[in-house]
Amino acid sequence: MKRWIAIWLTAATVLCMGSGCAAGKGVTVCDASGEVIATPRSTKTVAGTLRDGTYESYVTYALEEAIAVLAAATDGDTGAAQKALFRGDYTVHTLLDPAVHAAAQETYAAYEGENLPFGCAVLDYSGAVAAIYSGGEELFALKSHSPCSAIKPLSVYAPAVEFGVADWGTQWKDAPYKKVTDLAGNVSLWPTNARGDYTNEPTSMYECVQQSLNTAAVHCLKKVGVQKSLSFLTDRLGINVAYEQNKAVLEGEDEVIGNVAMGFLYNGFTPLQLAGYFQIFGNHGAYAVPHCVDKICDADGNVVYAFAAKQTQVIEDDTAYILNRLLQSVVLPGGTAKAARVDGTEVVGKTGTSDEDNWFVGLTPDYCCAIWHGNREDGRNTAPQLFTNVFAKMPSPKTAQFAVPDSVERAVCCMDSGLRASALCRNVQVGYYAASRLPTTCDVH
Ligand SMILES: [Zn+2]
Repeated sequence: MKRWIAIWLTAATVLCMGSGCAAGKGVTVCDASGEVIATPRSTKTVAGTLRDGTYESYVTYALEEAIAVLAAATDGDTGAAQKALFRGDYTVHTLLDPAVHAAAQETYAAYEGENLPFGCAVLDYSGAVAAIYSGGEELFALKSHSPCSAIKPLSVYAPAVEFGVADWGTQWKDAPYKKVTDLAGNVSLWPTNARGDYTNEPTSMYECVQQSLNTAAVHCLKKVGVQKSLSFLTDRLGINVAYEQNKAVLEGEDEVIGNVAMGFLYNGFTPLQLAGYFQIFGNHGAYAVPHCVDKICDADGNVVYAFAAKQTQVIEDDTAYILNRLLQSVVLPGGTAKAARVDGTEVVGKTGTSDEDNWFVGLTPDYCCAIWHGNREDGRNTAPQLFTNVFAKMPSPKTAQFAVPDSVERAVCCMDSGLRASALCRNVQVGYYAASRLPTTCDVH
């Protein structure tokens, strides 16, 4: 039986790559090299037709996308598009990269807590999705999870830099924003930091990002404006934050400030969505819609759909690179993801951690990758280490460094005042700025 399947798959591959895409009833799904990876007869029968069982998340998502693009190309009728897809002997050519997918799968297989819920998505800067892999008992890579602190660069720090509210050394006080009273009448300070205490000192934005301080994120968001941040997420990235927007209008923006600053959104993100949004920090501020489907052919080999490459400039290229350098702090000593590294290239990224969710979304100049896992018994977020393990199994990096845009200038920053350092300043660091927005010289020292 197995031998028969192997012969059939080979024959189908040849047809798929040639002009006649016929391969029997149902849909033929191919990877990026044209190999057949699944032949489902409906969206519910994916699992039983996979060449490799670990492709289930990818193929499931690719079929949903194929139905959506076919529906969009006609009259928007999803049901009709689904029928047409499965009755038409279509071939869906995906962008699944077997080498990248194997790196995610093998990393999970070698993982010490391998029964843990796990999801991983990898895409490049054209939005081409190389891998979506789930570990555990459900397709966790296709589920939404609270992004936690991984949202801060998107909801707080990118708008702060883009709107000129903050730069490299801007000082935010590491102190609570307010007192809160619970239903039992107990008063406590809010928000708390992951490390459990406050310095009550002014802290540079660089250090706030590096240590993922919740206090600073709330103060910075308040300065940006919660409504403005929510509009930024919706208008620039198409993120659905309607729940938070309505609540901010009805109950006041302080009622959602934690959701927005610390990533407890009503609608969470899938790993693919989060990796997709972070593209902007590695790609000069441009965003390409993540996509698995490259083209769809009918039974006669006619192309009925082809992905049209499109990038949208979401933030200024200087904002993107300043955020990129701020996010590099996270993987350096003192950062929350110092285990994340890839031989031969730069890595930048952000962690997100709660009692239920553990994230690392990391960028190299070639790829964006988000890793999520459920809670371990020891409570640790091991996503940064898993990111390192995935990339160690991937093909060698093509690009060693993120490109620096002409609109960015380096300047020595006084980390005590947040201003441009003079010869008298002692606590200094090279910072990155929009050339048009260099800070004034420190007058404190
Ligand atoms: Zn100074």
